[in-house]
Amino acid sequence: MKGPWRPPSWPEGARAALSLTFDVDVESSWIVRHADFARRLTLASEVRYGAGRGLERLLTLLAELRCRGTFFVPGDTADRFPHVLDAILAGGHELGHHGHMHVKPLGASPQCQREEIERGLASLARAGVRPAGYRAPFWSLTPETLALLIEHDFRYDSSLMEDDRPYRIRYGDAELLELPPHWSLDDAAYFWFDGEAGGNVASPDTVRRTWTAELDEARRDGGHIILTMHPDIIGRGARAAMLRELVEHAHALGDVWIATLADVAHHVATEVGPKPTAR
Ligand SMILES: [Zn+2]
Repeated sequence: MKGPWRPPSWPEGARAALSLTFDVDVESSWIVRHADFARRLTLASEVRYGAGRGLERLLTLLAELRCRGTFFVPGDTADRFPHVLDAILAGGHELGHHGHMHVKPLGASPQCQREEIERGLASLARAGVRPAGYRAPFWSLTPETLALLIEHDFRYDSSLMEDDRPYRIRYGDAELLELPPHWSLDDAAYFWFDGEAGGNVASPDTVRRTWTAELDEARRDGGHIILTMHPDIIGRGARAAMLRELVEHAHALGDVWIATLADVAHHVATEVGPKPTAR
């Protein structure tokens, strides 16, 4: 599936790229999972933190750090929490597509997958947004959803993990740019905890050291670190402070390009042209 590719060089001699991405799932995923979601007041309150206090803290932090982020917003979040889109756009950040009800593509019918893409697009369009990128809920990309991304002219996907630098995926005669995430760079893997399923409450310092080591290593070989975070998870005080320290470290290095995924996609497209380049 992976097309021939050479690693990109980054703007202004940067040795690595860093993207701060946030999935603003809020209630969407949980409504699908729990028919009695309306009775789960505690769970609802936890995830709504990501549409209120957590988001507010992160947007303030990004402004202080003079960084733009990429926010993947399900259509359901856009429809029921319109202030979320307004606040993200007011900060100059990128908005990406993250399904409509955050339905996992794997296991969904082809028709359901189409509805997730097209309803999500319609919800973002009502806010005047035509997203360049898509991230599959649970990073569960399928051939059917990949075909829909190509049909709807997305510029990039951010769900697959075959490299730690941008690469092209081929599907039939078509190609799409992949900007790869990874579980080890996802805040949920370290910090998600709920009263029913349990989970982790890791030390922010452990996560800071892990992510800093990944960034430092990426500088050795031109890597692209994509942090995947959730405002209800990373938006809590000590965790947001950890993110501030990490970004300040990247700034201090002086050779890390901090960019939205759309900016990376644009850079890669203009650097190597529309066709993959053989190694
Ligand atoms: Zn999500």
